[in-house]
Amino acid sequence: MDWQGKVVIVTGGAQGIGMAVTHTFARAGAHVAVADSDPEAGIEIQQAMRAEGRSVTAHVCDVSSENDIRTVIGEVTAKHNRIDCLINVAGISWIGGLFDRSLSDWDRVININLRGPYLFAKHAASHMPRDSAIVNIASTRALMSEPDTEPYSASKAGLIGLTHALAITLGKTGIRVNVISPGWIDVSAWRKSSMRNQAKLSEKDHAQHPAGRVGIPEDIAELCLYLADSNKAGFITGQNFVVDGGMTRKMIYEE
Ligand code: NAD
Repeated sequence: MDWQGKVVIVTGGAQGIGMAVTHTFARAGAHVAVADSDPEAGIEIQQAMRAEGRSVTAHVCDVSSENDIRTVIGEVTAKHNRIDCLINVAGISWIGGLFDRSLSDWDRVININLRGPYLFAKHAASHMPRDSAIVNIASTRALMSEPDTEPYSASKAGLIGLTHALAITLGKTGIRVNVISPGWIDVSAWRKSSMRNQAKLSEKDHAQHPAGRVGIPEDIAELCLYLADSNKAGFITGQNFVVDGGMTRKMIYEE
């Protein structure tokens, strides 16, 4: 697919997995609108990509705010009059016990990780032509859990449900909707410069994965590019793709 002239919105596109998604689509020739709540990171990626000759605009946006979402979509469509692809990456993780976190903590995770992708898809869809695509980023924690991860796991499992519901609703408009569930992806080097700090991963970290290594952001970004390309992935919609080096296929009994 020729991405020249195509317009892609990447939420959370300034750092981490989203940063790799922004790089991948911008280098493929698309215009990328980065909707990220961190203004410093947004400006950095905009400048870095423009220095490479790519077309990237940073939009400060908290995906838990419907107003922010409307504003970004308004800015993008006023300039480009179309959205060819929406990649919902923005998300926050969660560390906290079942009994010691408040309702507002729960709401914050759900509002960013689940309501945000719902609202973005809802407001973007009417600007998306046939053969366009939405890709959501969930997590293998939608499928398996460690203790005390309730809102995160629930938000990501919800995102898988949201994905197939949207795929059915939007199918008649020619918009495909899929979701990727990453496992452990090392994003430590994919940060704004003030926060960048390559993690030291151990042999054990890598070796526990059937694929022999911890994931990298490009593992996810390349699949986003494939799923967004209707010439290649035009028969794929409503699906969840687990990209975790095989970890969720590994049976573990404690000795
Ligand atoms: P990250 O923290 O490295 O980057 C997240 C980006 O999203 C940042 O630029 C941040 O500013 C932005 N962001 C955070 N809250 C936002 C909001 N309310 N509105 C807009 N932007 C916001 O995260 P990551 O590790 O790259 O994770 C990206 C996505 O992938 C998340 O949805 C996460 O749940 C999912 N995921 C990550 C991993 C992993 O191992 N890194 C594994 C599974 C799933």
